[in-house]
Amino acid sequence: MVLLSIVTSTAKEPSTKSNPILIIEDSLAIIMSIKEFLNALGYYEIKSATTGKEGMQLFENLVKSNTLPIVFLDYNLPDVDADIVLPHILKIRPDAKVIVTTALEKGEQAVKDVIMRGAYLYLQKPVRFNNIQNAIQILEDERDATKKENAKVEQQIDSVLKPTFVTLPRIAELCNISREKALAYLKELESSGKVLCSNNVEEISCNSCSSVMIEKDSDSETTADYYHCLRCNNRFETSKAKKMTTQAFRIKAQYNLKTPRHEEEY
Ligand SMILES: [Zn+2]
Repeated sequence: MVLLSIVTSTAKEPSTKSNPILIIEDSLAIIMSIKEFLNALGYYEIKSATTGKEGMQLFENLVKSNTLPIVFLDYNLPDVDADIVLPHILKIRPDAKVIVTTALEKGEQAVKDVIMRGAYLYLQKPVRFNNIQNAIQILEDERDATKKENAKVEQQIDSVLKPTFVTLPRIAELCNISREKALAYLKELESSGKVLCSNNVEEISCNSCSSVMIEKDSDSETTADYYHCLRCNNRFETSKAKKMTTQAFRIKAQYNLKTPRHEEEY
């Protein structure tokens, strides 16, 4: 009855939970009860394994078929323990969310170790359903936030791309994101054939703060050319500007990235 009351309070949007779940747990009874509870929350894509090895294999198969399951991992398994299974899973997908279930107390070294190794969180056994629900809810919220954040970044990048080459440092600085983050999306655009990449473009940056948002001074009284930095206001001679070779991207003429392709995200 306690279980029912928890379920009915959150079962308003049962059909929207598409995240697959993998339960690695040697007790079939526990698997069944977790499954039933997750079903009630709207999760139907649930796989389970009763050994560590089977669990790792299932995880690999799911990742290969382009799904990243939320993993419930029992600490003690008949063949290999969580301290083997967890690193294996995280090696395949460092962004995997693994919830370790254990009868051990919070303060015990094994629990600390498993968190240190990258478990998303741990739930003490016997696992209470509202703890599962909370954990899942936090994960869903994080995923939504990440999705929105990514959509925002992608839109920003779309808006600074041009039919002429724009360098990676410039794109990153204009969007106020790291070059790595910008590059991840730009490579995606490149592989879908929407942008072209050039690997050897020279970019000039401020010699004091490394910003690429610099402008040539037009009203130089002297014969030497000067730049000033829009970030730190540093003024420096052209010959003292820092030069770097970097990647640059341009939109292919037939693609207009500014079409509202992110609308469905909101
Ligand atoms: Zn500067």
